[in-house]
Amino acid sequence: VHSNEDDSDSGRVRVAVRLRPRNADDLLSDADFADCVELQPEMRRLKLRKNNWSSESYRFDEVFTESASQRRVYEVVAKPVVESVLNGYNGTVMAYGQTGTGKTYTLGRLGNDDASERGIMVRALEDIIANTSPTSDSVEISYVQLYMESIQDLLAPEKINIPITEDPRTGEVSLPGAAVVKIRDIDHFLQQLQIGEANRHAANTKLNTESSRSHAILMVYVRRSVHKKVEDEISSQEKVNRSDVPGGSRIPIVRKSKLLIVDLAGSERVDKSGSEGQLLEEAKFINLSLTSLGKCINALAENSPHIPIRDSKLTRLLRDSFGGSARTSLIITIGPSARHHAETTSTIMFGQRAM
Ligand code: ADP
Ligand code: MG
Repeated sequence: VHSNEDDSDSGRVRVAVRLRPRNADDLLSDADFADCVELQPEMRRLKLRKNNWSSESYRFDEVFTESASQRRVYEVVAKPVVESVLNGYNGTVMAYGQTGTGKTYTLGRLGNDDASERGIMVRALEDIIANTSPTSDSVEISYVQLYMESIQDLLAPEKINIPITEDPRTGEVSLPGAAVVKIRDIDHFLQQLQIGEANRHAANTKLNTESSRSHAILMVYVRRSVHKKVEDEISSQEKVNRSDVPGGSRIPIVRKSKLLIVDLAGSERVDKSGSEGQLLEEAKFINLSLTSLGKCINALAENSPHIPIRDSKLTRLLRDSFGGSARTSLIITIGPSARHHAETTSTIMFGQRAM
């Protein structure tokens, strides 16, 4: 088995925090314009103010202020994962945080009018397309949403209740019921993302729910053919096509890997006591998936031999793209307003437990 380029980072979740700029709502509601967070990006530190006299400090792998560009966030958080995927390993980039703090901005922004606004999904595909051959490699995507433990296709909305399957031999997780679209170029991808967005909106209107109550999951399947010298070690992940050997010493190998980009449901705790009916059911499922994600991330951080991956569909989907040789980045998003102090604290704690 060959090891990942940078062993120190595989298997561990890298955690970055990103602060959303103050918006009109924050300005209206905070009479004193006081922020409850202070960032010290050069020290990778965040200070959370408890009251006028005391604050608590937290360290992260990276701290992005409200003026951090989309490009920088991509380069620091996602690019190492994308590079690892291009080298044949699975990887995951996730955004976690309260609704309205910038998860979708960070991951899913299309940047139609201004390419500098493009989010991680578009930039990742740009990099992947630029580093694959249109003739000998392939880049395919599926795009689904997970709502109340049910998976719906965002590219083919008639496909609902899609089952998760797992290859018992390789452990490979797949969604055989979901549409798989072979991506030709970045414009084709932007089109698919837009279709997915529209379908997500339509599906959630029909379900009478908000997009913030579901997880959106983009899966990118990369197949690259590389030529290896026979004497080089060949990993178990790589498919060797020996019949293709032209009598020389180089053999063609297909490297298969998968990138998951996950825009998680809003992390805000819906008050279970106060809600009923559908809202209560939603809250239970969101709590189930985010709690079980948290447990898996903690187990990974603690090097625990038991990662409770089967507890929810979200974590079952992540199974082969999380831990082990896979590279994982988590970006937690927060707002500046003191009004959301409790939610911001709980988001920060989620991020801290992952480290
Ligand atoms: P979430 O997906 O977490 O609910 P959104 O990504 O929809 O939050 O962001 C909420 C609003 O804040 C959107 O209007 C978005 O454009 C804006 N926003 C979020 N993050 C940033 C940022 N870093 N810079 C500028 N605007 C942002
Ligand atoms: Mg969102």
